[in-house]
Amino acid sequence: MLTRSRSLLTVLIIIAVIALIWLGHTFLEGEKPDIQITPPLKTIGKTTRTSITVTDRKSGLRSVTVVLKDGAKEHELRSLTFPAKGHIEEKISLEIKPRELGFKDGKAVLEITATDFSIRNNSRTVSLDVTIDTIPPRIYPLWSANYINVGGAGVTRYRLSEDNIRTGVEVNGTRYRGYRTIIDNQPAYVCYFACPILSGREQLKIGIVAEDEGGNRSFVPLSYIIKSKEFRKSVISIDQKFLDQIISEFQERFDAIANVDPVRAFMYINETLRADTDKIISSICRNSSSKKLWEGTFLRMKNGAPMALFGDSRTYVFSGRAIGTSDHLGIDLASTENAAVEAANSGIIAYADYLGIYGNAVIVDHGLGLFSLYGHLSSIQVQKGQSVSKGEIIGRTGMTGFAGGDHLHYSILVEPTFVNPTEWWDPHWIEDNVTGSVTPS
Ligand SMILES: [Zn+2]
Repeated sequence: MLTRSRSLLTVLIIIAVIALIWLGHTFLEGEKPDIQITPPLKTIGKTTRTSITVTDRKSGLRSVTVVLKDGAKEHELRSLTFPAKGHIEEKISLEIKPRELGFKDGKAVLEITATDFSIRNNSRTVSLDVTIDTIPPRIYPLWSANYINVGGAGVTRYRLSEDNIRTGVEVNGTRYRGYRTIIDNQPAYVCYFACPILSGREQLKIGIVAEDEGGNRSFVPLSYIIKSKEFRKSVISIDQKFLDQIISEFQERFDAIANVDPVRAFMYINETLRADTDKIISSICRNSSSKKLWEGTFLRMKNGAPMALFGDSRTYVFSGRAIGTSDHLGIDLASTENAAVEAANSGIIAYADYLGIYGNAVIVDHGLGLFSLYGHLSSIQVQKGQSVSKGEIIGRTGMTGFAGGDHLHYSILVEPTFVNPTEWWDPHWIEDNVTGSVTPS
């Protein structure tokens, strides 16, 4: 009897201990809830969205409150209570409009408090010092040319009322970055941008944008006289020899077309590979030096006869059938075979390798978003990251990539957009549109 009641007691004690551990674990635990704010919030603008994640892994959340307050005012942005234990995580999305809530611009505190279901009532309060700033940055345009060529580039200079902001020029929704500079001993911004090749009926909306830390945004339209340009249309007949020559190089490099018939391989190269190449170029040309590295007019290859122009609209015909189209976004210059290719202006080598349809290619970063590209090279004589000066030999012409014969494909880009290189060969255009003096306004 005695041993039986003893063993029963032991079992009861074990059960009691387990129950206590469980109770202690869930109700007596001393771990405070965790509070995370993403992205980190420093400034609250006219309308600011933020996301707060509150977690309590042990007993779960009991309540969460979010309060915005300054010396004069307090406003509860969110108050949540959870009826039962076990609510581990809560994601709170907030849209804060401080002016509508009666707050004035200035310093404030965003206070988030969370408690859990532990008997110990663990509670954590995060008090975040924020600045309420509902005034959008002011933009003061200083200088812009009064016309822009379709397919060409433009430059504008301006000042802003605030610092540390995202700014640039927007052209039909494409954003070009503005860079800090000094004009008349005062901070200012310069931005290079591009006018797309327009069909003629499209509207062109160009303007300076500035967005501060609070997300307040300003837009000042820039008015330009748009000089339209007729681009050439051409039909390129492809024979079997040319087709085989073009595709053989790519079939060796790209498995997707290794065993595909020549016409389908050509279509893949002209469409998929061309688009992939453009994407790579876009990402390279989004990272430019914040300093102007170029000076004066850009060099044009010596004795280079123009074979194809910027904006040429091409249709490729094989056996009487159109098998593709493309827009030629550079100028083809042909000289002797393996002719020396010079850097058109000073800069830093942003790319020096095989580059899809352009074969062996070099991209030079001239700073402030301006780049030059040299394609179809037979050899490359520079390395990525290296500085080059105007006229320095960077490689030799060839026919690598999508090329029918030995020539240089020469392009100029403003960030991701190909622009007409002829503008940059013209000292008058550069003077009128890029380096023109700033007259105080
Ligand atoms: Zn070309």
